[in-house]
Amino acid sequence: MTEQPGTDWIAAELARRDASGLRRRLRSIDSPQDPWVTLDGRRVLMLCSNNYLGLANHPGLVEAVAAAARDAGVGAAASRLISGSMRAHGELEERLAAFKNTEAALLFNSGYHANVGVIAALVGPEDTVLSDELNHASIIDGCRLSRARAQVYRHLDLDQLEAGLRLPARRKLVVTDSVFSMDGDIAPLPGICDLAARYGAMVMVDEAHATGVLGATGAGVVELHGVRDRVTVQMGTLGKALGCFGAFVAGQRQVIDLLLNTARSFVYTTALPPAIVAAAAAALTLVETEPERRGQTLANAARLRAGLQRLGYVVPADETPIVPVMIGDPVETMSQCDQLLAEGIFVQGIRPPTVPAGTARLRATTMATHEPGDIDSALNAIARLRCPGTMSASA
Ligand SMILES: *Cc1c(COP(=O)(O)O)cnc(C)c1O
Repeated sequence: MTEQPGTDWIAAELARRDASGLRRRLRSIDSPQDPWVTLDGRRVLMLCSNNYLGLANHPGLVEAVAAAARDAGVGAAASRLISGSMRAHGELEERLAAFKNTEAALLFNSGYHANVGVIAALVGPEDTVLSDELNHASIIDGCRLSRARAQVYRHLDLDQLEAGLRLPARRKLVVTDSVFSMDGDIAPLPGICDLAARYGAMVMVDEAHATGVLGATGAGVVELHGVRDRVTVQMGTLGKALGCFGAFVAGQRQVIDLLLNTARSFVYTTALPPAIVAAAAAALTLVETEPERRGQTLANAARLRAGLQRLGYVVPADETPIVPVMIGDPVETMSQCDQLLAEGIFVQGIRPPTVPAGTARLRATTMATHEPGDIDSALNAIARLRCPGTMSASA
């Protein structure tokens, strides 16, 4: 390999990550994202995707992509503010607004784009953003990009949130995951909205893991907790339960109009391909017409949580499809991940900085299309793990 000037630190950085068990590598999948996949050449149970409703390879979505590509082509050609907003985008936004029961919605190219763009559009250097310490990285990046003062409160701690809200600022924004991505617990949205109302703060809720899964119609925790009118902006992704790609925000029309003008990650990027937008519309139809999928993924998660508890693990009680198996040490976590893979069960290990130091874990997630027997196979493999110290670390 040719030595390029100024790059000797890169090998050292990779070696440092290797030595501390933090080096990440891609594993290759040679099949669609089904409940069973071909991973590095072997059939294994997929127990770590965000494909909660099992829609990522649904024939209706595949057909929607094909039909829309024939009809509308592949590329969106520019930002929607430049070369025109294609019909599929506007139609899906109307349906998403109806789904979320808000006045309007706006598509973004991913949840990551949505979070960085929206937070920086709502607050600036004279303002305060209050953020749960376990919020997703895209929220953290949005807070940084906004240059607002960031007050990070302890996970779910409303007292600390209130202390931050008391500080004077031009504008205040409280931002939280509704379902926390690595822990699977649920934010206390009514309490957060009460405090926001008392201190004149906006509220942003990231429903990445709840959209399509929780609430009576699958609209998310905002629906489950009945706080729709008290939330300034909700974010939902199309890439997880909806099985596609992209994201959206929903709220009052004036909020959406502002974001369309000022969210830089909306304005300055090429729009989603129309065929993907059409697939998301087909997925939304399935959320509406096949509500049993939500029940199935949650029932599978309940089966997994109950089984883990019987094995002595402490798991969050909240009813979501995300079930962390706490281990602590990153090297041990990856060793257990490999042991499970050898038994045909794929549960990816999650390490810092995705989770706080000392809380590395296997993050198990269920799909509507898993059979109960699949969950039992995973539990049997977990029971056979050689894992000194795991039980005591599972706090
Ligand atoms: C996955 C995720 C995102 C990012 O969404 P993408 O559409 O995958 O970019 C944002 N917030 C949370 C909480 C997430 O888990």
